[in-house]
Amino acid sequence: KIELKAVSKNFKKTKIIKEMDLLVNPGEFLVLLGPSGCGKSTTLRMIAGLESVSAGEVLFDGKNAQKMTSLQKNIAMVFQDYALYPNMTVSQNLEYALKVHKVEVDVRKQRINKILKTLDLIKVANNYPSQLSGGQKQRTALGRGMIKQSRLFLLDEPLSNIDVQLREKARDEIQYIHQQNQQTIIYVTHDQTEAMALGDRIAVMDNGKIQMVATPDEIYNHPRNLFVAKFIGSPQ
Ligand code: ATP
Ligand code: MG
Repeated sequence: KIELKAVSKNFKKTKIIKEMDLLVNPGEFLVLLGPSGCGKSTTLRMIAGLESVSAGEVLFDGKNAQKMTSLQKNIAMVFQDYALYPNMTVSQNLEYALKVHKVEVDVRKQRINKILKTLDLIKVANNYPSQLSGGQKQRTALGRGMIKQSRLFLLDEPLSNIDVQLREKARDEIQYIHQQNQQTIIYVTHDQTEAMALGDRIAVMDNGKIQMVATPDEIYNHPRNLFVAKFIGSPQ
C-alpha cells in the first residue's frame, strides 16, 4: 500500500504540488491523469524517492519511504525521457536489473527474448540507444521496467511515442504482467482514453492537486467538478 499524506513540493518559491493525499491499494492499477505541467512526473518521482518532498510524507505499507532502501521498496520505473544507459545495447539495458538481482543466466535470456519479441525490438537488440528511433527508445525503456517484475511499477507516459498498433500490444502486455505479478501500478498519462482503458481507478490531477479519485465509470458518469468533466469528456 502506497500513501501520500499532505505531500507538497516547491521548486524555488513556486508550490508545484499542494498538500496532496493519495492512497494506492496493493495490486491496484492506478492511473494519474492530468494536463501537461500539472505535476504528474514530479509526483511519480517523489514516490520513487528520486525527488525529496518539501512537506508531508510518502509511506510504503505504513513505513516512511525515505528511510527504506531501494531493495526494500522494490520499484521499477519507466521514465518519460527514457533514461536508457547510453553505453549499453538494448539487450544489455534490459539485462542490467536482472544481473544486479543475480537472476540466473538462463532465466535472464528467456525474459529478455520474450520482451524483445513482445515489443518488436529483436532487430535492434544489439543497437545502442543513440542508434534507436524515439519509439524504439521508449519501447526499450518500457521493457526495462517490465522485465524486473517488481512489486511497484511506476510508468510515466510510457506509450506516448509508440505507434497505434504496437501501443495496443504494449498496453495489453502491461496489463498482463500487472495481473501475473500482482504488481501495484501507478501509470501517468494525459490521455483520457488510455486512462479509461487501463485504470482500476483514475486520479485526475490539475495544478498540483488531485481533483477526484474514482473508478473510470464513476469519473465519467459523476465527475465531481467542471474540470474533471471537461478533462474526461463527460456528457454535459
Ligand atoms: P507533462 O505532462 O508535460 O510531462 P507533468 O504533469 O509531468 O507534465 P511535471 O514535470 O511534474 O509536470 O512539472 C510540474 C511543474 O513543475 C511544471 O510547471 C514544471 O515546469 C515544474 N518543474 C518540474 N521540475 C522542476 C525543477 N526541477 N525545477 C523547477 N521547476 C520544475
Ligand atoms: Mg511529465
